Amino acid sequence: MQQAIGSVFPVSTDLRSTESPSAISFYRREFFKAMCGVAASGTIFGAGLRPAGLSGNRSQKLILVTFGGGARDSETFAPEGQRNIPRLLAELIPQGTFFTQVVNRGILGHYVATASIATGVYESFNNFVAAAPDNPTVFEYYRRSSGRNDAWVIAPSNGFQRIGISAHKGYGPDFGATVIQPKQILSSVLGNGKTVSAIDYEHLLQDSYDTPVYQSRLTQQESDFNLHLLASILKLSMENFIAHARTLNSADELSVFITRQLMRNLAPSLLLLTLHDIDVAHAGAYSLYLDGIQRADRLCALIWNSIQSDPEYSGRTTLLILPDFGRDADGDSGGNGFQHHRTGGPLARTTWLLALGPGIRENLTVDRPIEPIDVVPTIGALMGFDTPLTRGRTISELL
Ligand SMILES: [Zn+2]
Repeated sequence: MQQAIGSVFPVSTDLRSTESPSAISFYRREFFKAMCGVAASGTIFGAGLRPAGLSGNRSQKLILVTFGGGARDSETFAPEGQRNIPRLLAELIPQGTFFTQVVNRGILGHYVATASIATGVYESFNNFVAAAPDNPTVFEYYRRSSGRNDAWVIAPSNGFQRIGISAHKGYGPDFGATVIQPKQILSSVLGNGKTVSAIDYEHLLQDSYDTPVYQSRLTQQESDFNLHLLASILKLSMENFIAHARTLNSADELSVFITRQLMRNLAPSLLLLTLHDIDVAHAGAYSLYLDGIQRADRLCALIWNSIQSDPEYSGRTTLLILPDFGRDADGDSGGNGFQHHRTGGPLARTTWLLALGPGIRENLTVDRPIEPIDVVPTIGALMGFDTPLTRGRTISELL
């Protein structure tokens, strides 16, 4: 496959700081046209439409995954990077609609950028403060409209604990999402007198490098809440949880384990999962950064397959996957290549979105630029609720 992919790009695709978002998008589009026979937007002949479109139907479920931690095209969709995302390329993208140009015009910090995806407004608070978003979250719009209480967030990063509930006066705690922080559950179990060594779990407890400062020591109330979640919602004994956690390689694997357990037991209608392993790049270890991308690729396929095999989700669930943002280009002055996302260059701002599910066209790519803040109004349109304070626009190709 690598051979054939490479032949699509006769010229160097070394993405430099001078590349425009449309040029970055071009690489993805050319790849799909050549390799997958994927139709481009505007010429959607042959692009299949999944049956049973559920637009506006409240029984629809939606899972939003951030392919998070900042992944560049150079290690994903550029020819030399495609070996890192085999499941996206071969399995998922042919089944969905793929947007090649998602331009992030906001702050490139993981918490504030993910909060912006959740509110549909570029939030402007300090990324390093665990603040509630200023604008209502998609969870609050959904719950206030539907009267349901089944919006959840699973967030590996310890700094994301306030992402589910905004500070907006008209919304807030009565309508927010319940946030699960898998690392904190693990910490609570390890601190509960279990006779296991925390050293065996350190690789699951490491946190991202540029997220809000948080209190590393849980309060008794927080710990009790985590243990309640584990037993009552996730239906896991501490012994089984600890035993399974020991078999996992990373925080993202732990989060996906928790996500699948939540899906099985509670089947929430609106779910946000934020992945973070990729952000190990800040430590400067390129191989670990690639491991994080390969793991995210595999975990996204696992989530899609979990949806298909679960009667509560199958046939009525939209899956949206997008990175929070990219990383600096190798040639960016003021940057250090893949390691950080400081320069705000095109490669750090231009990402992609993949949508799969009922009513979503299969085998279609869309080149026009969209923005991460467009996700919230689109979720509202798909699930049948208004999102009045968002600054984004609905993505018409998904409706
Ligand atoms: Zn980062």
